[in-house]
Amino acid sequence: AKVNAELIWFNGELMPWQNATVHVMSHALHYGSSVFEGIRAYETHKGTCIFRLEEHIKRLFDSAKVYRMNIPFTQEEVEQACKDAVAKNGLASAYLRPLAFLGDVGMGLRPPADAKADLMVAAFSWEAYLGAEAIEQGVDVGVSSWNRLAPNTMPTAAKAGGNYLSSQLISMEAGRHGYTEGIALDINNMVSEGAGQNLFLVRNGIIYTPFSTASILPGLTRDTVMKLAAQLGYEVREEPVSRESLYLADEFFMTGTATEVVPVKSVDGMPVGTGSRGPVTKAIQEAFFGIFDGSTDIPDSWLAPVK
Ligand code: PMP
Repeated sequence: AKVNAELIWFNGELMPWQNATVHVMSHALHYGSSVFEGIRAYETHKGTCIFRLEEHIKRLFDSAKVYRMNIPFTQEEVEQACKDAVAKNGLASAYLRPLAFLGDVGMGLRPPADAKADLMVAAFSWEAYLGAEAIEQGVDVGVSSWNRLAPNTMPTAAKAGGNYLSSQLISMEAGRHGYTEGIALDINNMVSEGAGQNLFLVRNGIIYTPFSTASILPGLTRDTVMKLAAQLGYEVREEPVSRESLYLADEFFMTGTATEVVPVKSVDGMPVGTGSRGPVTKAIQEAFFGIFDGSTDIPDSWLAPVK
């Protein structure tokens, strides 16, 4: 696919986009042995900055640890690769995709103990994942017939390529039913997450989000929103969320790096609250986007300048 960037970082060097190829016998292609991140760089009052870079790269290394995958670079080197991928492509804002994967390590399912992962970092322009109008208008979602992964099957706290087969089933089913996105329940049939988003409900002024054990990826946008909500004076409760509480919520919104903060206007064809973006969602969005023009107070480390 044609992408709007010239250079890609691959195994230690920036190279022309079309040269960053792998062999068809790559382990990851056959067995899903990859871990990755999704990160955004924003044009900010401090120049182009990568949002929560250090924590995203920490999560990449945590994901690799779960799968005993050896990434032959330090976290600092990967952070620098991310900055270079944005800066050297001359991007003012970008979506970043670091990916570590097992390539030429043989066809055995169990990788050799000394196998080293390949690592790439792409940076390119990617606008609002669920569409620009979704930020204000909201999206229609449906509860999926597919459950999220059980904790003792594949760990959802690791952002591994293979997990996204589950997300694809959820997302494709949602598309077939005319929804923008699908919502998955966990194996206890409590609300888990979207195909690529964490979930928040608002009822009687209190914000609820599924507990971290509900087969979710612990999202960094989720963490950001929980902190901003507390800063705005809202009570945030991490607790098990039932399916019907989606129907009875005053407000419902989804969070993710690609998605950012998007209101949900209907679930399973039922309007959420008034059927349009609610005041709490709007306040959270303003605080979130305020990070990038300096109007929201955040730790300095959350914005890493690319140069
Ligand atoms: N859950 C899943 C399954 C995801 O793919 C994502 C996107 N990375 C999220 C939640 C949100 O995580 P984050 O806010 O860190 O992007």
